[in-house]
Amino acid sequence: MDTIAVKAFGTQSAEADLKQMQIDRRTVLEKDIEIDIMYCGVCHSDLHFARNDWGMTQYPVVPGHEIVGKVTQVGSKVSKHQVGDIVAVGCLVDSCRSCQSCKNDEEQYCPEWVGTYGGFDKHLNSPTHGGYSEKIVVDEDFVLRVPKNLDLAGIAPVLCAGITTWSPLRHWKVGKGSKVAVVGLGGLGHMALKLASALGAEVTLFSRSTNKMDDAKALGADHVVISTDEAQMEQAAGQFDLIIDTVPYEHDLNPYVATLATNGTLVVVGYLGPLDPMLVTVPMIMGRKSVAGSLIGGIAETQELLDFCGEHNITSDVEVINIQDINTAYERMLKSDVKYRFVIDMKSLKGS
Ligand code: NAP
Ligand code: ZN
Ligand code: ZN
Repeated sequence: MDTIAVKAFGTQSAEADLKQMQIDRRTVLEKDIEIDIMYCGVCHSDLHFARNDWGMTQYPVVPGHEIVGKVTQVGSKVSKHQVGDIVAVGCLVDSCRSCQSCKNDEEQYCPEWVGTYGGFDKHLNSPTHGGYSEKIVVDEDFVLRVPKNLDLAGIAPVLCAGITTWSPLRHWKVGKGSKVAVVGLGGLGHMALKLASALGAEVTLFSRSTNKMDDAKALGADHVVISTDEAQMEQAAGQFDLIIDTVPYEHDLNPYVATLATNGTLVVVGYLGPLDPMLVTVPMIMGRKSVAGSLIGGIAETQELLDFCGEHNITSDVEVINIQDINTAYERMLKSDVKYRFVIDMKSLKGS
């Protein structure tokens, strides 16, 4: 099929830095939308994927799944968006549309879901490439409306960091009277604080870092517990209805399970892999406590979140960077040195 060549930033191997490259996008099909990318957030998953932390990366990789841009072309059967609209694309660009998960508006659990990068484009017959690029072409069913009142760089991280924490908050029915804790104050963590607090919950942050206390309070935390301080952890025992754990690397979940209330749930959204040390079942059995996982969110739920952000004036706290600074940004993210999400201004790629 016909393609157009666009500039992108990506990598050819786990060890190499990201650098400028050229990729092909399909020309618009009947239901496709071509988007000129304005901003793209930098998720820790981009780094995991570029460096093959999950052992499944096929190169070359162009990361990026927190995309905001302007519609430049629409296919003949597009009805949801028009040329000139500001729109967004998150982690999903297609799914089977017919399985039970798709019917339930939970396309992220469709066995055939197509990731924005590292997925498979059935039209092009090649891997999908993400938002660190000038343009992207996406089926209209996976393109979202952006509230008009919000800063566009700040809205980009809602597409992954936001929805990944919103989905468990909604699934476990968090609202007024709920006691929620968040583990780790990074991209996901800071959105979780904002969203849980906007839903009316009493919110606690667990952090290793002693220097994030004031920021956490400003972001919506009522309390901060330093997770490396055993006395503070003991004081937090038996409290939380829901804990959202955003830590990207292997760590011990047992001290957090101890802080769940009876019937509480610890939902892991960060680390992907086997646990070491393993879970101790005693407190789970003695308190009917659960340990669960959760993956991003569906398209309808992501639109619900964007609308909620518009109503409550919620955006991400961002550091806007040029694409040429992406490798430094990855190193800083590994040191938790970002307040609290890098977002690439894609003008920097166009001018290069
Ligand atoms: P991030 O911005 O780097 O934040 C992670 C935070 O975790 C850090 O700020 C730090 O907070 C804490 N942390 C980092 N390393 C740690 C360690 N070794 N031990 C304990 N705490 C540590 O990352 P992010 O973009 O929020 O992503 C977090 C994770 O979620 C990544 O693994 C990402 O791949 C995953 N993710 C999952 C989904 C999903 O659908 N489930 C979606 C998006 C991302 P403190 O300094 O406060 O401790
Ligand atoms: Zn992400
Ligand atoms: Zn499906």
